Amino acid sequence: MGSLLITGISTLVTNDPQLGEGPLGLITDAAVVVSGDSGDSGDSGDSGDSGEEIAWVGPASRAPAADRMYDAGGRAMLPGFVDSHAHLVFAGDRTAEFDARMRGLPYTAGGIRTTVAATRAASDEELSAGVARLVGEALRQGTTVIECKSGYGLTVEDEARLLRIAAEHTDEVTYLGAHVVPAEQDPDTYVELVTGPMLDACAPHARWVDVFCERGAFDGDQARAVLESGIKRGLVPRIHANQLSYGPGVQLAVELGAASADHCTHLTNADVDALASGTTVATLLPGAEFSTRAPYPDARRLLDAGVTVALSTDCNPGSSFTTSMPFCVALAVREMGMTPDEAVWAATLGGARALRRDDVGRIAVGARADLMLLDAPSHVHLAYRPGVPLISAVWQRGRQVVS
Ligand SMILES: [Zn+2]
Repeated sequence: MGSLLITGISTLVTNDPQLGEGPLGLITDAAVVVSGDSGDSGDSGDSGDSGEEIAWVGPASRAPAADRMYDAGGRAMLPGFVDSHAHLVFAGDRTAEFDARMRGLPYTAGGIRTTVAATRAASDEELSAGVARLVGEALRQGTTVIECKSGYGLTVEDEARLLRIAAEHTDEVTYLGAHVVPAEQDPDTYVELVTGPMLDACAPHARWVDVFCERGAFDGDQARAVLESGIKRGLVPRIHANQLSYGPGVQLAVELGAASADHCTHLTNADVDALASGTTVATLLPGAEFSTRAPYPDARRLLDAGVTVALSTDCNPGSSFTTSMPFCVALAVREMGMTPDEAVWAATLGGARALRRDDVGRIAVGARADLMLLDAPSHVHLAYRPGVPLISAVWQRGRQVVS
């Protein structure tokens, strides 16, 4: 395919402070070179193969030659979004539940069981097609890495099936057998299943283990049992924590060295201090608060305390049926006290941190060539122009997938 030189970038968000200004490492009038196939000569050095990696980043005036050229026409370029929290393998529809909620009924964890029934009844083909549709929808909005959880099967066979289907579409697969206790079981018996036979069947298909630690789902002791059993099987923990109420989830996440504590809506000062002192990323999911008319998490409080914050969609059919990271960026800025720069960082490199990835979420030599071009001169437009389809081109592993 040959190397590709992208020029005419008005503002480049590298997320590498060594490469440009501020925490986003901004370069104006920039260029990027994506490495070509192996055997390609020039400035790409020994980086990469098959055009997957970024070979050069800097001011356009100093850009090296390449085999092909793409003129960005004065648009802004960012790393692809890294959506580190999504529930994409499901069947059925909860429009009526959303509609009822917007007419005043509260959201509780129990609605998940509606999706479980529909998902169990669906074929592999139907479920896979549903994931493909959502992953494609996300890609068109700039998301080049997306995590995907199980959690709508809740039997040994169905949870393993959902993970196998998720793995057809992403490397970031999370075992969430402990999403909710299925209607037909008592909680302690179900935790024994999740930490025993279900884990045995699911661990080979997943990288992560997750649990919904919440009233109506799993309490602190149950959540600990789920995560510790997963850790013993080589899975890395992440957790749904402190979404609907105060609780032990965040502290448990930090104690167990979880990659991420997700939601973080109801936090005590001790919770914030714990996050600030540990390595656990706080992943905020404002689509859920939007779709349930709930109070938003206070991102400003977390950032001011020094916590690493990520933004994600929480795409799921019940409480946040959006794949749009630009929408989450706009919400984070308008509703959660984040600056546009902070929100863009959280939606790209923040998501990468939450997935413990250093090959994505940034535009630097050696990083995976996941890039998006905005039909706007600056990344600030993601929040400045909410609801506008600004993503005009996307490259994933160096291949243009949206144009
Ligand atoms: Zn979730």
